[in-house]
Amino acid sequence: MPHSTASQLSNSCLNLVLIGGGHSHAVALAKWRRKSPQPIATITLITPTLQTIYSGAVPGYLAGLCDRRACELNVGTAFGVNVILDDVVGLDLLKQQVICQNHDPIDFDIASLNIGSTPKLPPGTIASHRVIPMKPMGQMLDRLEQRLADCFETGFEEANPVSIAIVGGGLGGVEVALSLKARWGAALDLTLISRGAIAAEQPKPLQQFLIAELQRRSIAIHPHTTVKTTIETADHLSLQLSSGNTHRCEISLWATEATAPDWLQASGLATDDRGFAMVDATLRSVSHSTIFASGDIAAIQNTPLPKSGVLAVRQGHTLSQNLLHKAPTHRLSRFQPRSAYLSLVSLGDGRAVASYGRSAWVSAPFQFLLGRWKRSIDQTFVDRINFETPLHFNLRV
Ligand SMILES: Cc1cc2nc3c(=O)[nH]c(=O)nc-3n(C[C@H](O)[C@H](O)[C@H](O)COP(=O)(O)OP(=O)(O)OC[C@H]3O[C@@H](n4cnc5c(N)ncnc54)[C@H](O)[C@@H]3O)c2cc1C
Repeated sequence: MPHSTASQLSNSCLNLVLIGGGHSHAVALAKWRRKSPQPIATITLITPTLQTIYSGAVPGYLAGLCDRRACELNVGTAFGVNVILDDVVGLDLLKQQVICQNHDPIDFDIASLNIGSTPKLPPGTIASHRVIPMKPMGQMLDRLEQRLADCFETGFEEANPVSIAIVGGGLGGVEVALSLKARWGAALDLTLISRGAIAAEQPKPLQQFLIAELQRRSIAIHPHTTVKTTIETADHLSLQLSSGNTHRCEISLWATEATAPDWLQASGLATDDRGFAMVDATLRSVSHSTIFASGDIAAIQNTPLPKSGVLAVRQGHTLSQNLLHKAPTHRLSRFQPRSAYLSLVSLGDGRAVASYGRSAWVSAPFQFLLGRWKRSIDQTFVDRINFETPLHFNLRV
């Protein structure tokens, strides 16, 4: 096994292990860099990849409006932390160790989980080159691009388009459908399948606008339809639908309900009924005071919140204040959720529409302005995170 360095680091400073390089950890690392704190911690980041994909910029990338670098957060390269490229597969809470797939166990004083979530697949279905979960997003982009390249190479064209089913009718699924259509037009035959209504959580005017836009672009929609099972053969995939029909496609993209890995609950950490780490408002585990969690993988006790990148980013600010304190008496900051968040929904052609709480902005004069505003917010965020200056405290690579 490759040797892990984190367990050998100095005892005199806090041994902080960041599990997963999600949006919250990217923000916390960027904040520490700017403030140049005292040398009080060794920081180890365990991540399967050096880049995390910033979800807000993915529709623009899929639509061909920007290159891949515009949606990559350089969590593993930009900050000079001790990086271990691996997947975490368990936590030993008695020994205070993180269990990795390919490295020796890694000791920690404080560990922080920010590993996102993965979309739920029907029982017996596993990810493959035809069954592509939308998360982790880096993997999704690699698989989708490879699969599309294979399909186009073997002679798909307008008369014989590549059929893609997008399963999950929330904003993520809608944005991906519109973006792919904007980029590939008649070369793709797209279908959006949703267990509930399309964009069900959104204000009525936004929901109606998005449904009309999907129809205008010839994207077939199947609301109130569940995919029960999948059958994969050498040349296609069949989705068995709750309507009794079978939908045949080349590729399926899954933006369904978020799930957590089994090892989290198996570790003995307190979780909610869906297996997400239960934390208090300071983002600290309600069962283990040395564990923090943020973003999709966290569930704040008595505070139901959607799984969203905006929240993961905001929780990064709270984490940056709470993770670097060894003293148990230190008063931790509390994450204060807002009553409403701005959603900017990309239409894939440079335009966007928006909602804030129960208000929506969908009228034509706003759409290009909102599209420009969204691109500027996304680019500013990615640039801010990727600004490369090493951290000014005790770090080893
Ligand atoms: C198509 C789509 C579009 C979306 N668009 C938006 C949007 O516009 N705005 C918005 O607010 N939200 C959006 N979301 C939701 C958003 O993607 C998530 O809520 C957000 O990414 C959660 O961030 P996170 O920091 O919790 O984790 P992530 O950003 O998912 O990062 C988790 C990281 O941990 C790594 N990791 C995973 N497992 C392990 C492991 N076992 N060990 C080590 N590392 C691990 C992953 O590789 C990844 O790098 C969208 C979602 C989808 C599916």
